Amino acid sequence: MKHHQQTIAIPVSCSGVGVHSGKIVNLAIKPAPVNHGIRFVRTDLPGRPGVSAHFNNVVDTSLATVIGDEGCIVSTVEHLMAGLTGMSIDNSIVEIDAYELPIMDGSAGPFTELIKSAGVRRQEGNKCYFKVNQPVSLTENDKSVTVYPSDEFRITCTIVYDHPLIGTQTCDFVINRETFEKEICSARTFGFLHEVEMMKRYGLARGGSLDNAVVIDGKGVLNEGGLRYPDEFVRHKVLDCIGDFSLIGMPIMGHVVARKSGHAFNHAFLEKFFKEKDAWETYTLGADMQ
Ligand SMILES: [Zn+2]
Repeated sequence: MKHHQQTIAIPVSCSGVGVHSGKIVNLAIKPAPVNHGIRFVRTDLPGRPGVSAHFNNVVDTSLATVIGDEGCIVSTVEHLMAGLTGMSIDNSIVEIDAYELPIMDGSAGPFTELIKSAGVRRQEGNKCYFKVNQPVSLTENDKSVTVYPSDEFRITCTIVYDHPLIGTQTCDFVINRETFEKEICSARTFGFLHEVEMMKRYGLARGGSLDNAVVIDGKGVLNEGGLRYPDEFVRHKVLDCIGDFSLIGMPIMGHVVARKSGHAFNHAFLEKFFKEKDAWETYTLGADMQ
């Protein structure tokens, strides 16, 4: 657990295609002061409006996590948010010149490399955690998310797909910079060929290709080179979970156990979780050590 807040050492930028829009978008990750949090700024709109990465600002979760505030919409924030959380960045301004973040290779690997290339700067402000004191659970049919008290941020994730290549997969990680870089950040998003074809027919996933997703048909993986991890699918769900839970606005001290969850269900859980005020507290690590 880190005691101090952190930001990115210097501004860095990249560009890539938006998976749904198919448009090229430029993205810059910049340093921000203590207690700023993560805020997205649309440089393509008059007045450069912004929206904070907070679950109160989530406006859609049907295909990706979309946040918005007074006309400033930013789509597909989850993989970059996972990268920032995985690299323990508390404060940053993220500038983009379109409504949708670049999908890069469908994982958080390129964002993680970008942050690493800039370096991380320690700031003079204590790091505040969202500490879980009592278990909170949300269940709907066979989907569930429960968060238990824990001294560290841990995720146990299970997915169940009726496909021989996936089937039931479970993984369990304590989330820190080391495990994030080694085990999680490179896991790509995935989809079934018939779903991708259907989305394209409806004008979605215009930028989607084998360069930014693992695509599966009835027989196997269509990507040359196959999978990056044998259980890449469930690892990507852990990555999505890190991104979704980062919208609490501070790192979690708790153990997340998710079964068959996705962006929409994670968001529904966060809304319930936040309302149960006895179940958590904000906790400043190191405040008594100064
Ligand atoms: Zn994802």
